[in-house]
Amino acid sequence: MTSSSRPSLPLLDAMRPARPKAPRDPRPGLSGVAQSELERWVEGLGEPRYRARQLLDAVWRNRAASAGDLRTLPAALREMVEQQYRVDTLAATELQVSDGGLTEKALHRLSDGALIESVLMRYPARPGQRERHTLCISSQAGCAVGCPFCATGELGFERDLETAEILDQVREAARRLAADGKRLTNVVFMGMGEPLLNLDRVLSSVEALADPQRFGLGARHITVSTSGVVPGIRRLTALGPQFTLAVSLHAARDPLRDVLVPLNRRWPVAEVVDAAREHAAATGRRVSYEVTLISGVNDTDVDARALAELLRGDLAHVNLIPMNPVAHTPWEASPMDRIERFADVLLDAGIATTIRRNRGQEIGAACGQLAAARAGEPAAPAVARRRERIVAESAVALRGERSHADAPAGVGE
Ligand code: SF4
Repeated sequence: MTSSSRPSLPLLDAMRPARPKAPRDPRPGLSGVAQSELERWVEGLGEPRYRARQLLDAVWRNRAASAGDLRTLPAALREMVEQQYRVDTLAATELQVSDGGLTEKALHRLSDGALIESVLMRYPARPGQRERHTLCISSQAGCAVGCPFCATGELGFERDLETAEILDQVREAARRLAADGKRLTNVVFMGMGEPLLNLDRVLSSVEALADPQRFGLGARHITVSTSGVVPGIRRLTALGPQFTLAVSLHAARDPLRDVLVPLNRRWPVAEVVDAAREHAAATGRRVSYEVTLISGVNDTDVDARALAELLRGDLAHVNLIPMNPVAHTPWEASPMDRIERFADVLLDAGIATTIRRNRGQEIGAACGQLAAARAGEPAAPAVARRRERIVAESAVALRGERSHADAPAGVGE
């Protein structure tokens, strides 16, 4: 999508001012607080311990959005809760709907004005397949990895999300679904940010989501993605089966992956796949590999064969995704016949492969697009320089040479 064809976002103006940033609300978000901590807190106030359970039920079963929703608590305790905690860490949420109501993109403003996004995708029941509702959530505001086909990458890194800021995206979507008598069935950490660079909070969020006393979603219905943070993958492997691991691979050749996923300059593709392979062997869980296909860049037969060789014999599943149109890149999505040909090469090599459809293109459902629209248009010379750099780097990569650029600053140190 070019900047001129970006959707207009009139309601987003109601959420101004987002900049300059406000100070962060120091009160912890309730959804990120453990039951034991809440028990200590209520007992410290002279209240019975079961009040902590009532609080958690209000947060998780009734999806409370404000202190007024904590109806089972006495008024005095509700007031104390409001002084000590935030019942909801999302200060405002703006929704955009597309695909005939099947895709809902939410832009959330946090207490300091940071903007993050989540996308709810509804999949109606089909013969042999139950109805599903999948939520894609953010783990950071912005992202330091800087993939050039991603609007979040262009925004740069702002900050890590708190556990409650991650979880409240889920509670907000669950509230919307509950209004239609529906339930969330899957959560994927594929929104803004690199989840394994905010791993402690991502892990405590997963624990809350999988906990039957809190959100109660089976761990198999949770997917955490990474662009290739090898120490993070190894840490997950040491923890044992937790959820599905998805690796955003995008290219099997280092020169090209250096350009598409700048983190590759720190952890080259063979190291990433080795770590993922160890994860599959240790957990018995198939690793999912995501490949965003960009016309004339990473969708060639050479790339398909390189990927087939890299993953041959692995416990793996490849998802091929046409690139979402993003402003300020010189690229576009691969045509469907090219994607099908790419898939055939993988399938012939015995690798399970699925072609995924893009959702919500008219509302900019690729992560970071709404936040980028809010951040304002960068100066034209900066956009021109970015395009030139991307074209030059990919030309070098397509000749099979590695670039000499450094890995993104502040990543993996
Ligand atoms: S694709 Fe993911 S890892 Fe890459 S810049 Fe965007 S959010 Fe970050």
